[in-house]
Amino acid sequence: MAGLLKTEAVVLRSMRYGEADRILQLYTPNRGRLSAIAKGVRRARSRFGGRLEPFFRLRIELHEGRGELLTVTGAQTVDGHRALRGDARALDAAARACDAVGRLFETSEPHPGVFNLLCRKLALLDESPAQATRASALAFRLKLLLAAGIAPQLGACACCGEPEHLIGFSGAAGGVVCSSCEAGAFPLHEPAHTFMTEALRRPLNEAPTGEERVLGQVERAVSEMLEHHAHIRLMPATARRAKRSDPATQERPQALRESIA
Ligand SMILES: [Zn+2]
Repeated sequence: MAGLLKTEAVVLRSMRYGEADRILQLYTPNRGRLSAIAKGVRRARSRFGGRLEPFFRLRIELHEGRGELLTVTGAQTVDGHRALRGDARALDAAARACDAVGRLFETSEPHPGVFNLLCRKLALLDESPAQATRASALAFRLKLLLAAGIAPQLGACACCGEPEHLIGFSGAAGGVVCSSCEAGAFPLHEPAHTFMTEALRRPLNEAPTGEERVLGQVERAVSEMLEHHAHIRLMPATARRAKRSDPATQERPQALRESIA
């Protein structure tokens, strides 16, 4: 089904290819994740300018041949998120958000809600780089779980349905568990439970906050859901702080480095 595809898209990743080309990983509202080659884009006079970079929101034209790789034939900027680009923490948060979307929604199945969520996340980071917190990264991941149909059960024990005495969380069971079903669960305290409920209920820009200890439990719950129900393991929600003596200990997975390059 060769032809022209016009769509909005967010650039999730951009990898150098050959002498002057780039391979892009794009997220679109109606075609999910797709890959495209942009030819000659690294030449100084490329008609695409600098807009085929990660975190750009574009109106893009793609030629679709028989292969999986589409070819970029035109691109207009909807939002380049310029402020976000000037802040290291916001840039890192944007890279982690794009990585999470690309890994959890890797097929061409349409999820327009996920596209909108990602656009909102990038817009928020652009509006205020101070939004690059662990709490807001976890609220975003919880909303991705919901969109993927694997939100944790929080209203009652995921094993037996008991609505009271919910003291633990089990990724295998798919949510909070009561004191009779806690085998294989880890302790989840009330503030972490409340954080998850609120993060799922409220819009992204009103995400709840919490102490590090609370966020640690939330992150573990989110990671267990991803591992048990989507079989993926994401990088941590935020970068570990580098030890002052050795800045090189700050981990940056290869994918992230390439993506920002
Ligand atoms: Zn139970």
